[in-house]
Amino acid sequence: MELKPQITRRDVQLCIGCGRGVAHDHNMIFFRATLERFCLDQRGIMQEHGLEQFFGGGKPGAVLASVMGTNPPLAHRFGEPTTSLICLDCAMNPALPVTMVIERAEKVAEKKADAVAEEKANG
Ligand SMILES: [Zn+2]
Repeated sequence: MELKPQITRRDVQLCIGCGRGVAHDHNMIFFRATLERFCLDQRGIMQEHGLEQFFGGGKPGAVLASVMGTNPPLAHRFGEPTTSLICLDCAMNPALPVTMVIERAEKVAEKKADAVAEEKANG
């Protein structure tokens, strides 16, 4: 997905945090966030750590391991990235967990996909 440097009417979504318009309370600033979910790869981490230790550990060991090693993946993304708009109030809210934002964004994406599929089915 290409992220354009401007937002047009077609791109406007409700805030994924509070469900209101991103300019509610006349805020002029809002955010567009693309979030991806990753899971650590223990095998890759152990492989990389072992090589770092083999080369003496610490920063020199890490540098040598990065040059000499196979650069294994340390984490894998699962699920698709989600892009959401977030109003200033929600962006400044420390009690808005990222996991909740991802879940809401995935639900919005599912609804959009269902709407597109239904539109295609109806011609
Ligand atoms: Zn909000």
